[in-house]
Amino acid sequence: MSAGRYSRQELFAGVGGIGQEKLSRAKVAVVGLGALGTVAADSLCRAGVGFLRLVDRDCVELSNLQRQTLFTEEDAREERPKAVAAARRLAAVNSAVTAEPLVADVNAGNIGRVLAGVDLALDGSDNFETRYLLNEACHSLGLPWIYAGALGGEGGTMNILPGGPCFRCLAPAVPAPGSYPTCGTAGALNMVTGIVALYQAAEAVKILLGSPETSRSYLSVDIWRGTERRALIRRNPDCPVCGRGEYEFLTRRRDAGGVSLCGQEAVQIVPGAPAELDLPALAAELRRLGAVKLTPFMLSFEGPVSFRLFPDGRAVIQNVTTTAAAKSVYAEYIGL
Ligand SMILES: [Zn+2]
Repeated sequence: MSAGRYSRQELFAGVGGIGQEKLSRAKVAVVGLGALGTVAADSLCRAGVGFLRLVDRDCVELSNLQRQTLFTEEDAREERPKAVAAARRLAAVNSAVTAEPLVADVNAGNIGRVLAGVDLALDGSDNFETRYLLNEACHSLGLPWIYAGALGGEGGTMNILPGGPCFRCLAPAVPAPGSYPTCGTAGALNMVTGIVALYQAAEAVKILLGSPETSRSYLSVDIWRGTERRALIRRNPDCPVCGRGEYEFLTRRRDAGGVSLCGQEAVQIVPGAPAELDLPALAAELRRLGAVKLTPFMLSFEGPVSFRLFPDGRAVIQNVTTTAAAKSVYAEYIGL
């Protein structure tokens, strides 16, 4: 099965047969399976990176298909969790690669599990909180990770290597929610997310191979204007993370919190401590009140209220706009 499979990549001097062998033993976590994460994961899977942990909290929707290349209309119709749909697709692309789905909202309580045993993490998230958390967790573990972001027709990426500069050196101030544009307000062209994610995947291969060509700069691309720039980011000696080793996001205590989801009329509730719910038992209860769909990965309920519930206790409450309203649905139907 593998004879000749990677011949075009092995012929490339930067990889070679020995590099290919190294890639087959490499383990990478892809954190977020949106427009960036799907493209990067597809590239690394085809390149023969031996293990991919695919992490995402959401389910596939029709509006994802314009730019999230691992998903199909059937995935959207079936409302499959993105991590599960991506793992299925990648297993069909390259059966020699282990694609491990992890349906989870990445937070301080589970980031250790997300990064366990990997050599590298790729940022495919769409928010600053996850990136600051990833930055601190990877710094504490001495793990490299690759930041990437894209919005509208612009995007950027940078390798965050254990010696710094880190992501906090690049973006020192934590922006207030609502103070910056998001994918839900500014949109995103699939051409820019594709380009940025492929730069990210190329850097991933170089980091995994220990290549001297590994980038040390921040790259920004504007696909509409057709411009590309590189900037050298300096390490801030007073940086709280790579300078002082203070982990504000990693040590943050969590209460049962709610966040509005980007571009959706829905609020996510995450319990303060991870739970292990008996979804079949809950499904039996809820069937008396409305329509229930149960899969091994989630329960969806449509009745007087609508929500999706995951085995770790996380829920996405639909048709609500405030955290308070979402929490009262949670308390009434699931129990806080
Ligand atoms: Zn730093």
